[in-house]
Amino acid sequence: MSGAAGAGPGGAAGGGHWVELKPAVWETVVRACDCCGQVVPKRLWVVDVEGRERRFCGLECESLYRSYVLPKLAR
Ligand SMILES: [Zn+2]
Repeated sequence: MSGAAGAGPGGAAGGGHWVELKPAVWETVVRACDCCGQVVPKRLWVVDVEGRERRFCGLECESLYRSYVLPKLAR
């Protein structure tokens, strides 16, 4: 098991990182975006939100989640 950290493309916004999904993985485990609910086919944007790991289909959903979903959850 070697960590695939280090060579991330571009500068990420927060402390998130991309997780590549291999077919063997996503065929058995369906990964859905925590924001829009879409099934993520190839890679997940995994980021720590408020101390909890969240998975999104992209950076757009992360910001969407932070601005729309989190305030509702915080009530
Ligand atoms: Zn999404």
